[in-house]
This record gives sequence, structure tokens and C-alpha cells, in this order.
Amino acid sequence: MARMLRSVLRNALSKPATRPFPEAPRAEFEKARGLITFDCTDCRFCGACALKCPTGAIRVVREERRIYFEPFKCIVCGACLEACRFGSVRMGPERRKPVYEKPVEVYAKPETEAEPKPPDPGA
Ligand code: SF4
Ligand code: SF4
Repeated sequence: MARMLRSVLRNALSKPATRPFPEAPRAEFEKARGLITFDCTDCRFCGACALKCPTGAIRVVREERRIYFEPFKCIVCGACLEACRFGSVRMGPERRKPVYEKPVEVYAKPETEAEPKPPDPGA
């Protein structure tokens, strides 16, 4: 009986073994493989990432200077990250949230002032 009481008391006074989800979401592991994104600032649109992607999740259109990425085809293997020599592929530890649709993400080079603008035909 005393043993049982001790056990009840210990359980009542100890921290809960589980988290109150979703109020207290689990912190991401530091080096976990997660979200793939692109930063096109230094991207050369060479297509190396797309060539290495085993699932065809990346499409690079050099003429448009854009990368089309289908995140729900991505198996987070990291091959694109290793293939990119310009540090334009990023991998974060966070996970993609569940969604109802599977959108295609479009990444483009950010416009800079140094970049020459096409001449205005009306001017
Ligand atoms: S992200 Fe890297 S590998 Fe992919 S097209 Fe741009 S520069 Fe090339
Ligand atoms: S992590 Fe792997 S599957 Fe995902 S986009 Fe990169 S190469 Fe493709």
C-alpha cells in the first residue's frame, strides 16, 4: 500500500511525460534534414541541382532566370545542396506543414540596382 501511495505521489508531483501539443510544439533537431529553399542571389541557373535531384522536384529555366520547385516531390535527400557550388540551395531543420494542395514554388533572382534594365521602347 505504501509503495502504491509513493508511486501515486511521485507521478502526481513529477513533470508530465508528454507535451501539450499543439500549444508546445517540439523544437526541431539542430541538424535535421528539413525544408529545402532557394536563394537565387548568387544562382547561375546552371541546372546542376535539377540534374542531381532524383525525384524531379526542381526545374531550372535559365531563360526566365527562375527555379520551379515542387516541395512535395522532395524526399529531402540533400543532393541538390551538394550539387550547388554557389550556396543557393538552403536546407533548414523545420518540416513542411500539411496542406490541401501541392503548390509549385517559384524562385527568381532578386532585382538589384546594379543589374542593367532593358531599354524602354516608348522612351
Ligand atoms: S541553385 Fe545552384 S545548382 Fe541550382 S541552378 Fe542555381 S546555381 Fe545551379
Ligand atoms: S533534397 Fe533531394 S529530392 Fe529534394 S529537391 Fe533536393 S535533390 Fe531533389
